[in-house]
Amino acid sequence: MNTLLLDGHGRKIDYLRISVTDRCDLRCVYCMAEHMHFLPRQQVLSLEEIERVARLFVSQGVRKIRLTGGEPLVRPGIVGLCERIATLPGLHELVMTSNGSQLAKLAHPLAQAGVKRLNISLDTLDPKRFRAITRTGELDRVLHGIEAARSAGFAAIKLNTVVMHGRNSDEVPALVEFAIAHGLDISFIEEMPLGDVGRSRHESYCASTWVRERIAERHALIDSAEQSGGPARYVRVSGHPGTRIGFISPISQHFCDTCNRVRMTAEGRLLLCLGHEHALDLRGLLRRHPGDDAPVLEAIRQAVLRKPARHRFDSDEVQVLRFMNASGG
Ligand code: SAM
Ligand code: SF4
Repeated sequence: MNTLLLDGHGRKIDYLRISVTDRCDLRCVYCMAEHMHFLPRQQVLSLEEIERVARLFVSQGVRKIRLTGGEPLVRPGIVGLCERIATLPGLHELVMTSNGSQLAKLAHPLAQAGVKRLNISLDTLDPKRFRAITRTGELDRVLHGIEAARSAGFAAIKLNTVVMHGRNSDEVPALVEFAIAHGLDISFIEEMPLGDVGRSRHESYCASTWVRERIAERHALIDSAEQSGGPARYVRVSGHPGTRIGFISPISQHFCDTCNRVRMTAEGRLLLCLGHEHALDLRGLLRRHPGDDAPVLEAIRQAVLRKPARHRFDSDEVQVLRFMNASGG
């Protein structure tokens, strides 16, 4: 039966983000601490369990699913999982967020598996800085991954940049030029205080208004009412129809009133809001009721009703102990 998921504030929930792993081949300074402990494998949902959750949410009117992590492409079996989720009747689109490091090999298989759109993280165009921000990564691998994605036939590719003063804020104009030159969209993201990453985030915090001003010094920007079903507000760049610029401003201008999404962590916790610890233990439910969806669906409906009205990322304080890789960004 296809019903709708409504929360207690009248918001329709039609977007699910699934973290398929908390592991990653990079260690970005805004996302992880230097030394991380990852979940033991038996605590992570199996591919079959993830697929079941996707099917249950789609049966309740969810139209968009994003696979993320951690890095979704380090999870063995990810392409087959995409294939199975993409064909769920009623799903409008399957999309993915990736750091790009495995895309040279996986972009074409993912597109063939039915992933419609890709978000690829890119915070800098300087190899040394890339190494400093990701602690381990090689920029070239990501640039090759972006090239492979461009030739794979996705409906859209968007770059995601977390902007930090003192690390990459001076590269905003260069990243915009890169997006324009490659016909890609780009979103600039304000850093959120998720997890104790061992430094004050306040010092590097960079508001979207500042980013927009830097771009407007070089380009005429046209406000756009376009929506991608996510939290970004978009502008178009005059003379460059192939590129939209998005601003994701969880700190300076929260978008909670129109929030349409919930997240599932790699261990099967259903998070109702990125900024709260409220969660439903879906893994326990799935494993207690292997052949009976009814109790799982009822628990999902009840949990969604308790979705908080908004987050409170107003200060530098770490209010949520979970790191972003564990949240399903
Ligand atoms: N590994 C993939 C990647 O990096 O694209 C997917 C997972 S990552 C957690 C998803 C997105 O969250 C990335 O665009 C990343 O830049 C962003 N992100 C991570 N930590 C963040 C934070 N503390 N504040 C804002 N965005 C963050
Ligand atoms: Fe890995 Fe993505 Fe987090 Fe960077 S932002 S450490 S690539 S999960």
